Amino acid sequence: MSAFTYDYVIIGSGFGGSVSALRLSEKGYKVLVIEKGKWLKADDFPETNWNLRKFFWLPALKFQGLFKLTYYRHVAIVSGVGVGGGSLVYANTLPIPKTEFYNSGNWNGLENWEEELKPFYATALKMLGAERHPYMSRNDKAMQQLSEKIGCPEKFDKTNVAVYFGKVGVTVPDPYFDGKGPDRTGCNLCGGCMLGCRFNAKNTLDKNYLHLAQQLGATIIAEKEVYDVVPLSADGGDGYEIKFKDSLSYFPKKDSIKAKGVIFAGGVLGSVDLLLKMKDSSLPNLSNKIGAGVRTNSESLIGVTTYEKDVSFSEGIAIGSIINIDDHTHLEPVKYSEGAGFWRLLMAPMVSGSNIAVRFYRMVKDFVMHPINNFKIFFVDDWSKKTQIMLYMESIDSTLSFARGWFGRMKTKLESGPAPTAFNPKAQELAREMETIINGKAMVMNTETLFGIPTTAHILGGACMGKSAEDGVIDKDNRVFNYKNMLVCDGSMVSANPGVNPSLTITAISERAMTKIPMKSDNLDFK
Ligand SMILES: Cc1cc2nc3c(=O)[nH]c(=O)nc-3n(C[C@H](O)[C@H](O)[C@H](O)COP(=O)(O)OP(=O)(O)OC[C@H]3O[C@@H](n4cnc5c(N)ncnc54)[C@H](O)[C@@H]3O)c2cc1C
Ligand code: SF4
Repeated sequence: MSAFTYDYVIIGSGFGGSVSALRLSEKGYKVLVIEKGKWLKADDFPETNWNLRKFFWLPALKFQGLFKLTYYRHVAIVSGVGVGGGSLVYANTLPIPKTEFYNSGNWNGLENWEEELKPFYATALKMLGAERHPYMSRNDKAMQQLSEKIGCPEKFDKTNVAVYFGKVGVTVPDPYFDGKGPDRTGCNLCGGCMLGCRFNAKNTLDKNYLHLAQQLGATIIAEKEVYDVVPLSADGGDGYEIKFKDSLSYFPKKDSIKAKGVIFAGGVLGSVDLLLKMKDSSLPNLSNKIGAGVRTNSESLIGVTTYEKDVSFSEGIAIGSIINIDDHTHLEPVKYSEGAGFWRLLMAPMVSGSNIAVRFYRMVKDFVMHPINNFKIFFVDDWSKKTQIMLYMESIDSTLSFARGWFGRMKTKLESGPAPTAFNPKAQELAREMETIINGKAMVMNTETLFGIPTTAHILGGACMGKSAEDGVIDKDNRVFNYKNMLVCDGSMVSANPGVNPSLTITAISERAMTKIPMKSDNLDFK
């Protein structure tokens, strides 16, 4: 490919990457999106997560699905891979964070974020086709009962979700973008959103931002992983050479392309990894703050499996309601579709304790004291159908950092505040309440019980905002300090803990960042 075939190369096609692709294309830039995952269509998604090759992303084993699980010392991270990034695997839920988010963390004071982001949240909700969940499934009802039991029935609410409901199974012409978008089909409430929607009802990014960007000429290539970005002059003012290779081959072919600008949008695991690596090689003037300010939602994921026979917690969408317990604490019910019970293999009784010996003792004690109950849970006929998963989130501002470890792999370190914990007493208390509501038993991932490593689907930060390169990787408009026409637009730019699911926020902040880039015709750098 010749020099500057594209104005901007976008690395990754998740929320931030997709917003960038559309808005830059609208401004007249020639855009190339490079995505390491596959371009999955409805038929490519697995029916259940027992189809490991279609569900998991583990290319070394030829697992070429959409779900990635990565373990670090302090946290296990689940994320999405493929054209559309995390939107393929996510649970569609789009809450707006509370006031504390805008006035805390690394971006505190750089803007009046709450006011500043309001119009961009509105745009993001519209673009993602968000709609208030119109149904009450069994697990929404159980959640409502829980809100009554803990004395805050008024805090129970339906969520805004990126799903086309329409009429079940009925396909209609684009209902969102004046006919410019693709056909959509009414959701059948199968509960399989986190396996990839096989029914054309979920508003994944390939159905909105990326679809519209392509119509404006943006090019998307899949199955290519960017491994280096080399500036053509010290500050990148002359552009960049972006190097990429096949992501699915044992003998990857390498290639490169030159562009005037680069957007890092590989998600926290993709962008922070690349930036850390390049700080030591091609981009030495990057801030020393790369990898700092990494946050989770301090989540706890607890599955409560019922002993009851003829019930199903699978019917509905993946997340349809929320209890806004207080300004810092939120709880959502999560579900998988019938038969998608792979996670049962990794479950262990929910216990806590200060070290592995205590927890192991308590786990064994649980098996010994409650053998029948444990037997019923471990051999339940259909785990996902009988399980109410509870996603508990808190907006505590504690941070980790990423650094390069052995063989160049990222490792986590504690940075500030308490470490993310797998044993949040409040979350466990709520799970115990749920046990009585649905007559069941609470279980958690065995990595939590044994090793105390909590799991997060909401990893954020690592390329936080700051006033200068001394205290941040990017400025308040997402521009990377010390390099020209280089931005970070993905979860790694999120510089405080939203306390709730972050995709809407990533979309809104990226929308704002894109408004700061001039039209190509007015941009002297691109003449
Ligand atoms: C099971 C699950 C359920 C979730 N549910 C919700 C929910 O209901 N609501 C919500 O708000 N959030 C949810 N999330 C979180 C949400 O998916 C993420 O916060 C969001 O996708 C992050 O967006 P992003 O822009 O940072 O990038 P991502 O969406 O993570 O996309 C990054 C993309 O870049 C690609 N990439 C990475 N590195 C490279 C490279 N070097 N070269 C080329 N491509 C690369 C990746 O393959 C990926 O496709 C969920 C996550 C999971 C895993
Ligand atoms: S419930 Fe089923 S049909 Fe509806 S959005 Fe989720 S996966 Fe698609």
